Amino acid sequence: MKCYTWTISQLRDLYKLRQLELNPPYQRRSVWKTKQRKLLVESVFNGVPIPALIVHKRYDKKRNKYVYDILDGKQRVETILHFIELIDIENEGDWEISLKNKSNQEKIIFSYSDLRKISFNNKNNNIAERFWKRELPVIEYDGEIFDFYGDILPAKEIFVRINSTGSSLKKNEIRHASHNVLFFKLGEELENRYKKLFVASWKIFTDSDVSRFIFHEFILELCTALFFERFTDKRSKLEELLVNHEWTIKEIQRIRSRFSLLIKWVKDILPEQYFSKTRFKNKSDFYSLFVVLNDFVNNGYITINKKDNRILGNTLLDFSKAVQLASLELKSYDIEGKYRKYDKELLRYIISTRQATDSLNNRQIRHDYLKSILKGFVLKKSDKKRVFSKDVKSILWLTILKRTKNPQCPNPLGNEKCKRDLIFTDAQVDHIHPWSKGGSTSFGNAQLICSSCNRHKSNH
Ligand SMILES: [Zn+2]
Repeated sequence: MKCYTWTISQLRDLYKLRQLELNPPYQRRSVWKTKQRKLLVESVFNGVPIPALIVHKRYDKKRNKYVYDILDGKQRVETILHFIELIDIENEGDWEISLKNKSNQEKIIFSYSDLRKISFNNKNNNIAERFWKRELPVIEYDGEIFDFYGDILPAKEIFVRINSTGSSLKKNEIRHASHNVLFFKLGEELENRYKKLFVASWKIFTDSDVSRFIFHEFILELCTALFFERFTDKRSKLEELLVNHEWTIKEIQRIRSRFSLLIKWVKDILPEQYFSKTRFKNKSDFYSLFVVLNDFVNNGYITINKKDNRILGNTLLDFSKAVQLASLELKSYDIEGKYRKYDKELLRYIISTRQATDSLNNRQIRHDYLKSILKGFVLKKSDKKRVFSKDVKSILWLTILKRTKNPQCPNPLGNEKCKRDLIFTDAQVDHIHPWSKGGSTSFGNAQLICSSCNRHKSNH
């Protein structure tokens, strides 16, 4: 495997010399909309990073030359070739493109057709040069696409390896291919069983994600977490299972049954009509939820009756709302002022969902936070707790701040010494309906009151 770049003029030349194969058998099927094409053209001009093209280099006897199969990036290549008028794409109208002006940071708006003319026109050297010299990252894979036995490797396997593990298919790895057949088969089985749920009901994935094997890859990632019994980084652990691990039927069975149990639990906690209102329709949040729930199961914690499941579901809904509220306030990554003081953990969670969402560090942050939020609600029957986890406080606080700039103590029992003004450091989480009378430890039953009222309440 090699990594290098092609300039757009090199790409043009390769296409003209018929050295680019846009439709090899392993091409991920995907169709771009105008919006995506526009974005790509803008990114090209504005120097925004563009994901690497993944190509397979092979010698084509008929053409008597090397040919590059585009394994991933067909839509990007086609968009560029269309822009330089080498191919046609149907139903493309004229769009507006906004370019950053290098010298004064201002934006200039061009129409697509005007920009096209400028790019070929030497009079406007700057823009034309920027365009033709723009470098596109390329990952070249030149190994064989046949396995040890001469069978063509499944496209999914190639995709997962190249896309997710970043590892090339070296000969010795292909010899190991028989080891991970079981694992891939499990991935395929689970994919087929839960495709409808993840796509049609939960809407975490689209049909296009399925055909591009992204859903398949995600299933393998969840299985990897179940195998190691913890969240993992995206690359090395999956690679380990794909390359070196010798799978046994027993291991496969354990993962299969745990996977099904966790999916059923999620369905019980969050009925379909609520699921789409939560954060967990995002891949990275769902991953964290799945692994946190697995942790609970491993420690003997699970909710089994309807009431507990509903409480847990409401907690996830409230959690999602709080994250959304805080997220709206945090347009940048700035963690100054009141937020730094009170809501560091929540902030870190939000930030972890915005960038490098698959990195180990960000998975760790989401895992710890979500676990601490849920811990109070996922309990063994004999072990009901009355204490709110500490992070509940910052979520309640944020929800209040959203309503008012001057939080007040609700003074539930008419306490004469009530401090009225609520200050974060002094506020305490209280059960609205007392725990001793069957009130639940949940967001719906939680409020912030001043320390004086809290004392008053416990003496009452
Ligand atoms: Zn009070």
